[in-house]
Amino acid sequence: MRIALFGPPGAGKGTQATLLAERHGLCHISTGNILRAAIKAGTPVGLEAKKYIDAGQLVPDEVVRTLAEDAIIAEDCDQYILDGYPRTVQQAEWLNTFLVARNTPLCAVIFFVLPDEVIIDRLSKRRVHKETGENYHLDHKPPPPDIDPSLIIQRPDDQPDAIRKRIQVYKIETQPVEDYYRRQGALVEVDAVGGFEEIAARIEEVLKAHTDTVPC
Ligand code: AMP
Repeated sequence: MRIALFGPPGAGKGTQATLLAERHGLCHISTGNILRAAIKAGTPVGLEAKKYIDAGQLVPDEVVRTLAEDAIIAEDCDQYILDGYPRTVQQAEWLNTFLVARNTPLCAVIFFVLPDEVIIDRLSKRRVHKETGENYHLDHKPPPPDIDPSLIIQRPDDQPDAIRKRIQVYKIETQPVEDYYRRQGALVEVDAVGGFEEIAARIEEVLKAHTDTVPC
């Protein structure tokens, strides 16, 4: 199964991608994680990307395209979850061409639906373990008390100004991708408000209904 997760920042795509990958034995390809690893490693791509990410903007299409296509090839994985890619119509078109050429189309694009207030709450209260990358939420999943507090950080792009910018960028640049996949009949909507297990159960349900009608 090849699926992409699509939706606003803070929708919980990363958490759900991890769960789906475990449950279905899929590779998890996250362009956000690839970019953060490049920043940590101090590569030229990482240094270039950091400026955009910290400002809440999208990294240029060409840069992300190369990273995503290289990851799909390098993972040597026929079955995977794309988490956070594509994020523009241009990326979606390139991905389509790339996958058609490999005869490996996407089976479904899961669209996370949630209101702005929930997005802002999730992003502003998100904290991350600097080393493991584990995500926490100050109210719903606080970092365990035995973890050294200096290891728990707030992502620079989760600062209030960057959050506002990311939501604005999402509406202008990313939301049109919804129509692109709706027209292809690949879009599967999921209500992304609630606890992560509840949302995971909903995803399994909508995915099953979709794959029952569109085998993949
Ligand atoms: P994420 O962890 O998916 O929220 O991604 C973090 C940041 O990485 C985003 O706010 C963008 O700046 C950048 N990024 C990740 N994926 C993409 C993409 N497909 N296109 C452009 N920028 C991306």
